[in-house]
Amino acid sequence: MNPIERESPWGSIAVADAHVHFFSHRFFSALASQKPGLTVDEVSAQLGMPLPPPDPEKLALAWTHELDRHGIACAALIASVPGDEESVVAAKTAHPGRFFAYAMANPRAWRAEAFAKVNAACLFPAMHAYSVHDDCVRPVLEWAEQNHRVVFVHCGVLSVGVRGKLGLQSLFDMRFSNPIDLHFVALRYPSVPIVVPHFGAGYFREALMLADLCPNVYLDTSSSNGWMRYQESHLDLRHVFRRALDVVGPKRLLFGTDSSTFPQGWRQQIFDDQSTALYELGLNLADARAIFAENLLRITSP
Ligand SMILES: [Zn+2]
Repeated sequence: MNPIERESPWGSIAVADAHVHFFSHRFFSALASQKPGLTVDEVSAQLGMPLPPPDPEKLALAWTHELDRHGIACAALIASVPGDEESVVAAKTAHPGRFFAYAMANPRAWRAEAFAKVNAACLFPAMHAYSVHDDCVRPVLEWAEQNHRVVFVHCGVLSVGVRGKLGLQSLFDMRFSNPIDLHFVALRYPSVPIVVPHFGAGYFREALMLADLCPNVYLDTSSSNGWMRYQESHLDLRHVFRRALDVVGPKRLLFGTDSSTFPQGWRQQIFDDQSTALYELGLNLADARAIFAENLLRITSP
C-alpha cells in the first residue's frame, strides 16, 4: 500500500475506506433510462450532481485528488448499477494500489467473465427481489470461493436517495434483507469474506448474531448509520461500536464512509465521528489500524 496517512486521535494512521460509491457516467445513464424522456443532463441537474465525463478514468482521477486531500490511502469503489463493472476496473487499473473494484451484481444476470478483475461482488437482495438462498446466487459465491474474492451483501433498510429525487419508484422487497438469511450461506462458503454494510442497517442484533456464528462475516461501519433511530433503547455510535467490538472484535470491522458524489466528496465527518467514538471507548492503536485499513487490505488481497 502507498505510504499516505492521515491524522487521527491515535496519531498518524493509514486509512482505507471500505465503502465509496462510484457514480460513473454509466450510473447516470442507467438512471436516465428508467424514465421516458429523461436525459443524463437532466438527471445531473435534478440531483445537483455534476455529470462525470464518460471516461471513468477521469472520475477516478478526481477521486485520487480527493483522497490525497484527506490523506486517505485507498478506497473500495462500488459500481452502483449492475453492468458497470468496467468503470471501477478502469479506475483500479489506472491507479494501482489506490482503489478496489467493487461492483453491484444482479445474480439473475450474472456474468463471471465481467467480474474477472473485480474484488467484490455486491448483492442487493431487496433491490433485485431474490433470496440469497436462491440457486441464482450460487455461481456468485462459487466465483468468490474459487477466485478468493469478497461478497458484499446489503441487508436491512435500503433507500436509494437519488431514485427518490428523480421520482423513480423503488420496488424493493425488504423480505430479502435479513442478515440471518446469510447464516447458512456463510457457513457453506467459509473461505469467502462476506461483508454486511452499515452494521446490518437496522438489523444490528441479527448482524451481530450472524458474525458471532460465522468467522467469515465482516461488518462495515459506513454512513451516518441513521438506522440507530429504529432501536428501542437509545443507541449512539459509542454503544454500537462497543457491542460490535465485544461480539465481532476489531479484526472484522471495516471502516467506511459511504461517500458517493461531488461536490460533497469524501465524507470527513463520518471519519471524525467514528474515530472519536472508538477513541473514547479506549481502542488501542493496533486495533485502530486494523479497523481503519488493515482488515480491508487483508480481505481484498488474500
Ligand atoms: Zn452505500
